[in-house]
Amino acid sequence: MGERYIGVDRIVGGDEEQQEELKGKLQERFDDPDLETLREKEKLKSNEETQAIYMAHEKLYATRKRLGLPYLHIPLHNIHIIKKEHWDSDRFAGIYKAKKMGIYVCEDESITALAAIIYHEMLHFHSYGAIQINDEGEAEPYRVGMAMKGKSLPGGYFRIVNEAVTKEMEKEYINEGMESGAFGIEGEQTMKLISEHPDDKKADGSPLMNDDVYVAWKSKNRDGSERVLTREFGYQKNDRH
Ligand SMILES: [Zn+2]
Repeated sequence: MGERYIGVDRIVGGDEEQQEELKGKLQERFDDPDLETLREKEKLKSNEETQAIYMAHEKLYATRKRLGLPYLHIPLHNIHIIKKEHWDSDRFAGIYKAKKMGIYVCEDESITALAAIIYHEMLHFHSYGAIQINDEGEAEPYRVGMAMKGKSLPGGYFRIVNEAVTKEMEKEYINEGMESGAFGIEGEQTMKLISEHPDDKKADGSPLMNDDVYVAWKSKNRDGSERVLTREFGYQKNDRH
């Protein structure tokens, strides 16, 4: 794309005039903090949440630099933290909408979980993106990273591979953050519980503290005894985020 890089690498389809119009719209969406009116659905970002976004920015700046890619800074106003009661999916916790130039994530009491999903969606924003103008003259996402839309496959191509790669990068990022103390007390507590409970098992007999655990905490049982609960990275086939 022309002037300034906003994360969209290509516009396909349509005529020159339609393409120019779409470019202008995307640019406006990228720049204008007041274009998306989610006011009551969106949460005012806390310092901790803003920090999580800046941590992802830093990591992505470094990655782009290393790869020789053009500078891209996703403005804070394009990253929306949605209040739980207004989040309408139980399948995924975040989504990147290329046409809206926006990232939407569900608020989370765990800062590690929130940092993970923010980074995940920012990775989608940062990866190769193409938007298509279809036969009806409407814009639709065509490519995000390796994922690609196709006429013969409703869900598109390489979506699952793209998600798997993104998840691996997310995992690496969270592990780095954990080791550098980026997640404060929550991270410390998780690392402590992982080291104290190496042999705990889940109900199905598999190890509780596997490589995918990113948050661990203690919870009280009804009888007053304690148990350790965890959250894990996972792949879901139908994940569309
Ligand atoms: Zn994703």
